[in-house]
Amino acid sequence: MNCAFCTEFAALPRRDQGTRIICEVSGWVLLPTVGCFAPGCGYGNPSSPHAFGRQAAEAIRIARNQLRELIGASAESEVVFTSGATEANYLAITGIARALRGVGLHIISTAIEHKAVLGSCQHLAEEGFQVTIIPVKADGLVDPSDIAAAITPKTVLVSIMHANNEIGTIQPLAEISQITRECGVLLHTDAAQSLGSLPFHVDHLSVDLASFSGHKIYGPKGIGALYVRRGTVRPVPQIASGGQEYGLRTGTPNVPGIVGIGQAAAILAEQRHIDTHRITGLRDQLLAMLRQRVSDIRVNGSLIRRLPGNLNITIPGTEADELIEYLPGLAISTGSACSTGQPDPSHVLTAIGLDHSSARSSVRIGIGRGTTLHDIIATVQQISEAVHSSTVKVEADATEQPAHAAVGRERSDRLRLPGRPGRPRLVSGR
Ligand code: PLP
Repeated sequence: MNCAFCTEFAALPRRDQGTRIICEVSGWVLLPTVGCFAPGCGYGNPSSPHAFGRQAAEAIRIARNQLRELIGASAESEVVFTSGATEANYLAITGIARALRGVGLHIISTAIEHKAVLGSCQHLAEEGFQVTIIPVKADGLVDPSDIAAAITPKTVLVSIMHANNEIGTIQPLAEISQITRECGVLLHTDAAQSLGSLPFHVDHLSVDLASFSGHKIYGPKGIGALYVRRGTVRPVPQIASGGQEYGLRTGTPNVPGIVGIGQAAAILAEQRHIDTHRITGLRDQLLAMLRQRVSDIRVNGSLIRRLPGNLNITIPGTEADELIEYLPGLAISTGSACSTGQPDPSHVLTAIGLDHSSARSSVRIGIGRGTTLHDIIATVQQISEAVHSSTVKVEADATEQPAHAAVGRERSDRLRLPGRPGRPRLVSGR
């Protein structure tokens, strides 16, 4: 596996002291199944009053402040650790909607959100909330005037991702937050993808809630955080007992994960602008070289408002899943999830207007901190060889339905995602 294309954190396993397998990363040590031994951090439970517990609690406090500083939050209590951005999104969206149930039952989101957000909206729709799903333009961007037009006196929350995970588009969040502020509506953003490569400051963007993921900022998997602005109504927690994480996330905290995301945040504060500049250059080189070797490549999503490390391209006439299988050394992906053997076209690609066939011919290539020019050249070489081989060509399918038709058919009883740019769709509950 060419790990240069994993934008995620890589640990260096080594065998130490005879029987213990130790991974050392950024000065802290993880003993699988045993615990985390960061400098000054013992194996104590951070909720315990004894010295070992206090050490662990101190390690969490440091990590919370590392993340707090990175995002510009003003108080420690504004940062709540979760198991990842999925949980943070759920806590933010369902928690705020339920807390404000007496004020209004209407929330707004977009067609290209991560499934974690759309799934949370689906839950709320089933509880009787109304969800308006705003379509995006062909370049993947939301028009802020569509948000303004969708807000009603019953709207309690707008949830819009900062940057998209499949096509990398960066939404005009500051413009949108101006609208939500004027209307007195809370704004949540899923910033899982953007924090690792874009400046992100909760005050500059004027967001009320924001979700983050450890493994998207070169930290560990299975850890994330939710920012909740001080003074904002408290989200209703999923599990109400216990008082950890300011009462919003009960259960013994994941100390190794928290220390890891804190370390990742501290490194990012120093490294991000260097990474961003270099990675943007590599991404542009990758696209230019691919265009020289493979004809008719189309870029999905805006090239101007785009994450540095994201390239999502359609290579007409190829089958993306087969291309990926053909290239086991590259960590490239499609946006689709294959559950029962039936390719499910990416809801993001169909939302920007791609038909089923084009969505099936699209791949996403991620470029990260570890990627080198050598990796880019090797990738271009491998992709162009694969594309020109006969095995990855799409078989013409005369019976194929447009992607949006398939999505609508499969999900008729669920939250309906617009298949194409168009009018906002209102999803009612029962
Ligand atoms: N939101 C976005 C935009 C993502 O890209 C991801 C991860 O892929 C998530 C949410 C879920 O994050 P996690 O894996 O930390 O739950």
